[in-house]
Amino acid sequence: MTQMRTSTLLVAAAVTIAVIGGACVLRGRAQGTPESQLLDEVAVALGGKARVLGVRTLVVEGGGRQGDLNALMTAESPLVGWEVRFKRTYDLANGRMRVWQSNRSLFPARFDLQPAGGARLVNALDGDIAFTLPADGSMIAAWADSNADGLTSIGSTWGIGTPERPASMEAWPTKYPSGPQPPQRIFGPVAVTRRLDMLQHPLTLVRAALNGGKLSGRRTEANRELIDIVTPKGDKLTLAVDKTTKLPESVSRIDGNAYWGDVVLKTSFASYEDVSGLKLPRRLLTTMDRFFQTDFYVTWNTVDSEVGDLAAPASVVNATQNPPRPPALVAEQVPGTTGMWKIWVDQGEVRPDQRPDTNATCLMELSDHMVLFDVPGPDAFVQAVIAKAKELRPNKPITQLVLSHFDPGHTAGLRAGVAAGMELITYRANVAAFTDVVGRKHTINPDMLSKNPQPLKITSVDDSYVIKDSMRELQLYHKIGDGESATMIVAYSPRDRVLVNTDAWNVITQQTPNDSDSPSMYDNIVKRHLDVARHVPLHSLGMPTQAEFMKQLAYTRSMEYQFFRLAQRLRVDSQF
Ligand SMILES: [Zn+2]
Repeated sequence: MTQMRTSTLLVAAAVTIAVIGGACVLRGRAQGTPESQLLDEVAVALGGKARVLGVRTLVVEGGGRQGDLNALMTAESPLVGWEVRFKRTYDLANGRMRVWQSNRSLFPARFDLQPAGGARLVNALDGDIAFTLPADGSMIAAWADSNADGLTSIGSTWGIGTPERPASMEAWPTKYPSGPQPPQRIFGPVAVTRRLDMLQHPLTLVRAALNGGKLSGRRTEANRELIDIVTPKGDKLTLAVDKTTKLPESVSRIDGNAYWGDVVLKTSFASYEDVSGLKLPRRLLTTMDRFFQTDFYVTWNTVDSEVGDLAAPASVVNATQNPPRPPALVAEQVPGTTGMWKIWVDQGEVRPDQRPDTNATCLMELSDHMVLFDVPGPDAFVQAVIAKAKELRPNKPITQLVLSHFDPGHTAGLRAGVAAGMELITYRANVAAFTDVVGRKHTINPDMLSKNPQPLKITSVDDSYVIKDSMRELQLYHKIGDGESATMIVAYSPRDRVLVNTDAWNVITQQTPNDSDSPSMYDNIVKRHLDVARHVPLHSLGMPTQAEFMKQLAYTRSMEYQFFRLAQRLRVDSQF
């Protein structure tokens, strides 16, 4: 930590020298190379080298759209995601940044999932220290969230905890600290990611390049010129500038995404405006390979305003990292069955105003092998599930993996499944997308499959599909009319009268007030003539009986619930 503080001071000192000394800034890169000539021209286009290096603070505020790869009706659907408001505060002299963002879901199944997601937190960076801290009313003037306890007040609105509610909905903790959480340090690669994110702006990137960045590879592509930049911290980025105006057009970098593998992350800049002697972009567009990520419009660029002290508080600087441990799994036998388990990662205590990450998998035993339904975690999760299955049934390997719908959040471990020799089984419209995911290169962050390549076995499910042997029959059905995915399949075991689903229907809890969605699930149960006794919803708490499901169905069809959803929608709007 001492080292980090020192390096921050050194950066501050270097910037001060740069400001005072003008030409000193050329230290660290060869003068007169084609690359440095281009960089100088870019600095001139942005307002001059001295002006660029003299900026102390920058505040960027605005709004836009953000895509969500985890919420797609089909693998080819355009990303819907969220409507966003944001404020980014940069203390350039000290290498600090604070990012506040408020998300309002545009995805129908999630409208009332959460009040203005993310609005309560600020993501911060101080040198090499990443942390979060509670947001306050200073973020955006129109934002005024006076309800500190968030979702907890909803419980009384719609009667959670009353005797009429199913028992499985009453299981949330009652004791939790009131008020906002204190600032929290985030260990791991987040600090590097935030440092790279901080460089996704012409001003921050050109400053980093001028302050000792190594430049190489000047080249021309269509109407733009490109150079590669390695910052003094070793971050590698490519800057593209407009051939005529010399204004930065984009910055890109290669990243090793756990799910998508090697990807190009790119931020494009447009609509430059004049602010305090600088040219700054009013539009920021980001992509990951072919996927749209964000399209942000800047309402205000503010230079050198008073932003206060953005340093990490002492409690954050002095925080120590818990040693990493393998995921501890909870394996709960599905009531009334043998050889069926709901398995998820132990969450510890979850505050009622936070959504538990209850993404689970379902393990099902057949006479000579086991079947998994969804894999919400990557390599380590899949390895832990395989170990757990070995413990439960030593002589039955998991050889089949059913993938319910196209959602990286519930299929994160599909590559690990292929590496372990599992056959993938999914709805036909997901086959091309999952084949692409299995075939992608993971050279930057190699995973189990890239280290141990295995051939892909993938089975396409049309309207229905049966996995059957002398011990158990599993019927897979395309779920029709689902509000979250058009490519959803659910699994039914007639022997056990158990229906397994992910996202096709969730138990209503205080943390997950949306219900996606029991009416269409009921329609599918009727259409398929399923004699369900027990539900295993993999993205929510509990394993309710059919009677409990019918109670929730009645509730979701009630005017009370319709008013609740409306009220929640208005609440999200007013907090956004
Ligand atoms: Zn889900």
